[in-house]
Amino acid sequence: MYIVLLRKKRLGIAGMLIVITLLMVGLVKNEVVPAFNLFVDRPAVVLDAGHGGVDKGTSHGDLLEKEINLDIVLKTAKFLLDRGIAVDLTRDTDEDLGGKLKKGRHRKDLEFRVTKMNRGMVAVSIHVNSGASKKGGALVLYPRENEEAKNLAELVLKEISQVQVLDHEFAIPKSNLYVLKKSQVPTILIEVGFISHPEDRVKLTNPDWRQQMAEAIGTGVLKYLALGN
Ligand SMILES: [Zn+2]
Repeated sequence: MYIVLLRKKRLGIAGMLIVITLLMVGLVKNEVVPAFNLFVDRPAVVLDAGHGGVDKGTSHGDLLEKEINLDIVLKTAKFLLDRGIAVDLTRDTDEDLGGKLKKGRHRKDLEFRVTKMNRGMVAVSIHVNSGASKKGGALVLYPRENEEAKNLAELVLKEISQVQVLDHEFAIPKSNLYVLKKSQVPTILIEVGFISHPEDRVKLTNPDWRQQMAEAIGTGVLKYLALGN
């Protein structure tokens, strides 16, 4: 519903009045209205491209996880921005977020990501999987016992299932992943496919498929925001 109204906003004063009215209703009910970033200084969505710089993530030949993650993140960001949703990114280039190479770089990198992710209203971290998987496919993780994140995870998983095989049919609760454990906003981590799986690799290298994946992720996030979570 909010998304439809956001589009109306472009129609001019009438649309703006609808937005303001709905915002006031949200304030009266003491709720955060995620889509109306026009009036708030928090991005609705923070997208996190896993790894970067010296940390290439998993790889297969010259196919690097860090590059796939960033490409899908940038495509997802564009998809959401085009629909009036304010987006922030933990990184928008091939950079490491842990500072100069030294002991503790990895932890610093993760801390930086979480700090930035917590500035949003929801956060989505994007990764590529590796390992033994017969059918390959995507999976979505969320912090255990976080119902909001679970809702977000399931909405996104449903959209992803339109464009990718699922390694796990249901979103998976996790309690030992740093970015999920430390996040204070509904946060999910998506493994879009297995770099170790031949069929997934064809998809992961295909810009059109990356675009479809980005749109699926974006659509899931929009549905979550539209439900007023
Ligand atoms: Zn990764």
